[in-house]
Amino acid sequence: MRNRVLMRNCVWLLALLLYALTFVNAQATRDASHLVPTGKGWGEALPTRLGPPRGLNPPRGPATNGIFYHGGPILPGSVNLYFIWYGDFVSGRAASDSLATVDLLTEFFSAGGLGGSSYARIDSTYADRTRTVSGKFALAESTNDYYSRGLRLSDASVAAVVANAIATRALPKDTNGVYFVLSSSDVSETSGFCSQYCGWHSHSTMSGSDIKYAFVGNPDRCPNACEEQVISPNGNSGADGMASTMAHETNEAVSDPDLNAWYDTAGNEDGDKCAWKWGPVTGTLGDGAYNMTIAGHKWLIQMNWENSRGGGCDQKLSGKFYGQ
Ligand SMILES: [Zn+2]
Repeated sequence: MRNRVLMRNCVWLLALLLYALTFVNAQATRDASHLVPTGKGWGEALPTRLGPPRGLNPPRGPATNGIFYHGGPILPGSVNLYFIWYGDFVSGRAASDSLATVDLLTEFFSAGGLGGSSYARIDSTYADRTRTVSGKFALAESTNDYYSRGLRLSDASVAAVVANAIATRALPKDTNGVYFVLSSSDVSETSGFCSQYCGWHSHSTMSGSDIKYAFVGNPDRCPNACEEQVISPNGNSGADGMASTMAHETNEAVSDPDLNAWYDTAGNEDGDKCAWKWGPVTGTLGDGAYNMTIAGHKWLIQMNWENSRGGGCDQKLSGKFYGQ
């Protein structure tokens, strides 16, 4: 009897552990709507990565915004972003594996950039029981990792890259931060970069604290899957594609950092609900179209789900909602 209970506890613990190890939320590839939804906002072929169903008990009542709170924390106040440039961003095989990409994305996310903009303040429609998301975030520090885990990253090695940067004090330990692993175009992420997703965010315990982190690969590895346009506003399709996916993951990481705060009945977080939707653009999609100007550059950035006025995708807080 005692053994059976012990065994059952072990099985339960193992299941919990597997769930904890495998749960991430991702920016789907452009064709992911052809795949079976999994409750994680992206098509998924591997049943071992399935988490338990989420969002089965949305609050009752007529007034909702199409996305529901599940009790977990948000990231309040000013959120620090940390970039880990993984691989070769000096003279890699694609033109975008270069310092031009580092410079563009550094400008986009530095103070006075995307954080605090009318776009980022869409995030301020999310809150937990005591605190509100501010929509303020900015790049705090960056570091380089020259292929410490090789050319093929697993989800675990992405986490290890972040844990190592913190443990070696290349980056500070910041529980109100989001750490991005940004890989050059010669690097694969074997759980599905380019086939299932273009980026994802998750969290793990590192150096004894709950650390939020994300993976975004250089989409010049797979333009058809992870870029809206090869001719892009800054003449750098890799950087322009990364900017949009990074905005998506940032929106999700501040509103659902531990994957237990804000998502809808299908498991979609705010960014997922507006993935690959731009709203009106200047110019022609496919030929350098853009929908915002930030830090002196033009950008094509996917919209975000505003949690007010019934909910919808918009380009700026209190803006018009668009279906595409
Ligand atoms: Zn997402």
